Amino acid sequence: MDVYLWWIGAAAADHELLGMVRRRTEQAFGLPVRAWLSHERPADSYDARRQQHSSTRILKWLLDARPKEAAKIVGLTDVDLFIPILTFVYGEAQLGGTAAVVSTARLASDTGFRPDHALLTARVVKESVHELGHTFGLIHCPRPTCVMARSVNLVQVDAKEPVLCHDCHIRFGELRKQGQEHHE
Ligand SMILES: [Zn+2]
Ligand SMILES: [Zn+2]
Repeated sequence: MDVYLWWIGAAAADHELLGMVRRRTEQAFGLPVRAWLSHERPADSYDARRQQHSSTRILKWLLDARPKEAAKIVGLTDVDLFIPILTFVYGEAQLGGTAAVVSTARLASDTGFRPDHALLTARVVKESVHELGHTFGLIHCPRPTCVMARSVNLVQVDAKEPVLCHDCHIRFGELRKQGQEHHE
């Protein structure tokens, strides 16, 4: 199971942040996560009317552009993401699929001041684990502290731990087992 993390943002990559996301996603799922270094970027994700980027279009692009051995790919970006029915999203993932994307844009702002780097990193870690969890087939968890809890604002993001709760961890194990049986 090759899981890749790929910086696809407009600004230069923050390697300290990426390293932390890589290590914490590895810990959360017990799987190796690799960095994919490429300067390719999504070309057609910008929506001029909304002045935001379509997370769904980025997911489609990630599926095509990913290294072929990548069973899961998490794209990290600094551009502001949306899906049509929402003002913005922190990220999006294909449920039980391959691709996920997380944006730092709204995780770094909305409180009127720029949060410190450690806080931003903690938030990006949580949303990356969350979206990757969706690609493994995990759905939203009712526990507010579980990383799979839905979060629509930063208070809810900050209330979460960067790990799966006991129930989600068990469910993750079941989904992995089903996936392996499916491929046999
Ligand atoms: Zn979610
Ligand atoms: Zn949970």
